[in-house]
Amino acid sequence: MKKEPIKIKEKEASERSANFEEVVLGYSEEEALEEASRCLQCKNPACSSGCPVGIDIKKFIAAIVRKDYKSAYFTIREKNDFPSMCGRVCPAEYQCRKACVLTKKGSPFASEQAINIHFLERFVGDYGMKNNLKILASSEEKSAKLKVAVVGSGPAGLCCAGELARKGIKVVIFESLHQSGGVLRYGIPPFRLPRDILDYEINYLQNLGVEIIPNYIIGKIKTLDELFSEGFTHIFLGLGAGVPAFLGVEGENLCNIYSVNEFLTRINLMSAYKFPEFHTPINVGRHIVIIGGGNTAMDAARSALRLQKLKGILHDTTIIYRRTEVEMPARRLEIEHAKEEGVKFEFLVQPLGFSGNEEGFVKKIRCLRCRLGEPDSSGRRRPVPIEGSDFEMDCDLAVIAIGLQANQVLTSVTPQLKTDKYFDVVVDPKTMETSMARVFAGGDIVGGEGTVIEAMGMAKIAAKAILA
Ligand code: FAD
Ligand code: SF4
Repeated sequence: MKKEPIKIKEKEASERSANFEEVVLGYSEEEALEEASRCLQCKNPACSSGCPVGIDIKKFIAAIVRKDYKSAYFTIREKNDFPSMCGRVCPAEYQCRKACVLTKKGSPFASEQAINIHFLERFVGDYGMKNNLKILASSEEKSAKLKVAVVGSGPAGLCCAGELARKGIKVVIFESLHQSGGVLRYGIPPFRLPRDILDYEINYLQNLGVEIIPNYIIGKIKTLDELFSEGFTHIFLGLGAGVPAFLGVEGENLCNIYSVNEFLTRINLMSAYKFPEFHTPINVGRHIVIIGGGNTAMDAARSALRLQKLKGILHDTTIIYRRTEVEMPARRLEIEHAKEEGVKFEFLVQPLGFSGNEEGFVKKIRCLRCRLGEPDSSGRRRPVPIEGSDFEMDCDLAVIAIGLQANQVLTSVTPQLKTDKYFDVVVDPKTMETSMARVFAGGDIVGGEGTVIEAMGMAKIAAKAILA
């Protein structure tokens, strides 16, 4: 008899949307066993080909079925350093679950019947944390000869540092912010990724001997050449894509219009989510409009709604997106969660401009309705504006979440570092080495906005090349 997928337990929408505590509660052991037992143990498993780092999914699921959670953990750790984090944030519906044989052919994302690989990964990752399972450092002869500087402490930098430190290599991470983790710290809110998980992984690296120097901008305080002359033998750049894109429409400079980076940084890194314990300066409107359709837009909307509730302000949070829900790049789970929590969606709507009051604060957003046209270069159907369909919405706070780009702080002072037209660093994909010898790069600074697991995959390639 066909077994039905085991649903993950979640907090009730009305309860969870008034705080920043984790929403998804994870599988119990019984639930994980039930879900794992649905796996067909395919002869040629497609799931692993959908995983950007090629985890042996069939093998770790088989280990769960045998209740050998330790072996399941180490199977995942062969390819993925942060299973608890990836089990929470990976867009599995576009990756391993989409490739699972139980997904209907031609579906734009995983079918419901596909094995919940990410929830099983989270179960195993959390088991590893609770039982303090670790991959210990090995010390090889060449380790003493290498000293690596990692620039940026996002998933790419952390992963590269871990790979090298485990081989006994001295690694120093330079991070421009006062806390480490990159987007995992300042972007993804704690209701999706609790901070104790991130802290656990960072502590593990520090215990391996990785030194983290915060508040240190490479390109301003020191150049890459200076790092080399101080004795670093190799450098890894995990700079991310931290510069927000804007709409370029009238009124975008009005007060209370935030870039998604600033909005989420104030909430996550500057602790506005801990209100009333922290009184971080951040405005919260009654009519909040978020523009965009990716994870950043979902995070901004769900955080805005929580702040409204925490501060007792009548709420009305709307996402406007110029295509339809099917084309939204955000994780399906986040879209569902946002809807359940009360975020409204206006699809096929494009912003035209903002207007404000005499004091310069935004009050209205002017929009145009669209229809879907032919697919564009991304393969997604293009939004075509419908003439004469303009309308206005109340808007006393807006967040622009339409994309992120490379920052040029380091690349602009390092002409030897080849970049492309988007200012992303150009690498040899086989080694992740840049145009500068012994300088490697990975994550969002290569190829633009991606995912946590893709950033880690690139970091692993670079670490291997550094060790070669
Ligand atoms: P980052 O995480 O951006 O880290 C780069 C770090 O480098 C930063 O800490 C920065 O301060 C530091 N830095 C930059 N320049 C310098 C310098 N010159 N000197 C010193 N330090 C420097 N992906 C998913 O897989 N699932 C999700 O659910 C998801 N949600 C997301 C939500 C948001 C709000 C955002 C913004 C992104 C999300 N992503 C998600 C994408 C994912 O977070 C990124 O692909 C990933 O973080 C990229 O990792 P990275 O290490 O390349 O860069
Ligand atoms: Fe199991 Fe799906 Fe992978 Fe087959 S493709 S082994 S059913 S997870």
